[in-house]
Amino acid sequence: MQGKLIVISGPSGVGKSTVTKKLAERIGAVISISATTREPSPKEKHGRDYYFLTREEFEKLIADGKLLEYAEYMGNYYGTLADTVKEHLSAGRDVILEIEVQGAKEVEKKFPDAIIIYLLPPDDNELIARLTGRARDDEATIRRRFENAKAEVAQAKAAGIYKYWVVNDNLDNAVDKIVRIVHKEKTGDNEK
Ligand code: ADP
Repeated sequence: MQGKLIVISGPSGVGKSTVTKKLAERIGAVISISATTREPSPKEKHGRDYYFLTREEFEKLIADGKLLEYAEYMGNYYGTLADTVKEHLSAGRDVILEIEVQGAKEVEKKFPDAIIIYLLPPDDNELIARLTGRARDDEATIRRRFENAKAEVAQAKAAGIYKYWVVNDNLDNAVDKIVRIVHKEKTGDNEK
């Protein structure tokens, strides 16, 4: 049986990568590694966190039609390598994509059966606390990410592709909710 494609979106700092890792462990799914033109942070590794590419390399992938989806976000390209994802799905493995709204729209067109989920923060203060707590960005970047978050949530609502909205209040609760969603979608026990 074909694997399921699971899309996790949400504003920066909401907990996408944390939730994605836990979810992958729980359901035995593969996390798709995105390609990006942004700079790696000191802790990030090429081929583990992202494929870090130059703009030229990335634009070649676009031109060659190698990307399942891509988008430009905060001045950098982000995209998903189509072949890798398709191989996993054909082998019956579920694949999780951690991508933003624009990319999710493309995925929805190509994979109408994808499970498309938006993660929300419990509230503004908690989102700021998480952006600050992971100690990755300077204060100006944190502010910019926070300002962007509101617009992103509005954009996600307007996109009309997110069937599931999950508040990432407590990590285990949020992951539990998503496990149940995936189970429900897989057993066909769902109303569109
Ligand atoms: P994103 O991938 O959406 O940018 P991260 O996964 O990097 O977000 O999470 C941002 C910060 O919030 C991290 O420090 C992470 O440990 C923390 N975090 C994630 N989920 C929760 C949660 N449910 N409760 C508390 N803190 C969380």
